[in-house]
Amino acid sequence: MSRIAVALLFGILSANCSWADGELPGVVIVNARVIDGSGGPSRNVKVRVVGERIEAVGDFEPTAGDTVVDAGGLVLAPGFIDAHSHHEDGLLEAAEALAVVTQGVTTIVAGQDGSHPYPLADFFRRLESSPASINVASFAGHGTIRGQVMGDDFRRPATPKELARMQTMLAAELEAGALGLSSGLEYDPGSYSAPSELVELARVAASQGGRYISHIRSEDQYFWEAIDEIINIGREARLPVQVTHIKLAMTRWWGQADRLKSKLEAARASGVDITADIYPYTAWNANFSWLVTLFPDRDLDRRDGAEYILEDMLSPEGILLPDFRPEPAYDGMTIAQIAAIRGTDPATTLIELLKKDAEAGSRSPMLGFAMAEPDIEAMMAWPYTVIGSDGELAGPHPRGYGAFTRYLGHYIRERGVLSLEEGIRRISSLAARQAGIADRGLIAPGRYADLVLFDPARVADRATYEDPHLASMGIARVWVNGVTVLDDGQVTGNRPGAVIRRPLRLH
Ligand SMILES: [Zn+2]
Repeated sequence: MSRIAVALLFGILSANCSWADGELPGVVIVNARVIDGSGGPSRNVKVRVVGERIEAVGDFEPTAGDTVVDAGGLVLAPGFIDAHSHHEDGLLEAAEALAVVTQGVTTIVAGQDGSHPYPLADFFRRLESSPASINVASFAGHGTIRGQVMGDDFRRPATPKELARMQTMLAAELEAGALGLSSGLEYDPGSYSAPSELVELARVAASQGGRYISHIRSEDQYFWEAIDEIINIGREARLPVQVTHIKLAMTRWWGQADRLKSKLEAARASGVDITADIYPYTAWNANFSWLVTLFPDRDLDRRDGAEYILEDMLSPEGILLPDFRPEPAYDGMTIAQIAAIRGTDPATTLIELLKKDAEAGSRSPMLGFAMAEPDIEAMMAWPYTVIGSDGELAGPHPRGYGAFTRYLGHYIRERGVLSLEEGIRRISSLAARQAGIADRGLIAPGRYADLVLFDPARVADRATYEDPHLASMGIARVWVNGVTVLDDGQVTGNRPGAVIRRPLRLH
């Protein structure tokens, strides 16, 4: 008797219908080149998914009730984990997360740069009642908590009483499932915190098995001191720490990736579990008005501030204003181009535009071309670096749509920075480990069935600085928790995404 017939018979005989040998029907992916996320070589094996988990990996025959998916020889990998994402912003309204799934990303790590949806328990509840297509994990943001406690009076160190309140609030966010503490020490209100404030908060994260991830206090002038600060936090608070979107973002530091790696390696050798994430682009994105913080005393009449920005850190060609709200005629232009139109020198132009933006209160975005390709490649190759897009669903930087496909197409395939197997390990099992996410990031029995099927010869980003919202190529199919969210390159509208909470610490 066939298995189907047996099953039908059992179905008739028993209200509690089940398969004869206890197996549920599954999906079996055949004819795939499986790269399982461990870093090991690819294998031609079958993968069987039952419900939301991977049930079997190996050489077996599909059972009669299984749906068979022919992978056509493409690579099957664990769904990618975006270690640094801002895609949670607007996700409840754009739950199909087109920008994310078209890159093969199945899990985003939110709550970055010191800012998170507060309180986290509410955000998670909303996501669970109205799920997205992707999984979401989150850090608790230092800036968000500091803002709750200190309000507008944040331009000073916290008092012991305020610090105690922050610790209590952080503990609650960790209880709600935050992976740890994130900080954004170049931004308000985090920039006014004393180093000891971060250490004391990091101790709370450590006590619950969380970690610390930071947009460090300076990515340019005081970069090396800022690296010392995060190493010290890891040492004092005894928890894993991660330099987020690591970069050498100042012409003076270009070519010093070896110096940076030596410093990080020395910290690791001394017992500090320090790691990094990086995005695969030479430009950062921030509010144009953030440049004001680089002027001495934030005084826009200090011409030396403008000269520092234009000579030591960026260049007149390297500041691009994609959407200059006080003067839309300048949209898509650089300071060099605008200076030529206005007939003023670049420093004067920069100061005048910053004043215009401040007067209008318009918070125009900017792109800052401050990094060098050899440094990006060197830091990407460091064995403890994972990939974070730093991207948004509708942001002005192409990384929101293209970070992972650019990483796979440009850096892995074209530049050979890492082998494909190692490159995938970084964005699957290593990313899961560094974020503290359990049961994801590997194609192995028992793991969640977050999977991506892609063509390694074709995978590429299409998003550019001129057109940042173009979907990627070469990602054929994506499963989240066993459910297809992208098929034949098209979003399906399924929303199987889960909230990922920090695993409870086992005592
Ligand atoms: Zn940042």
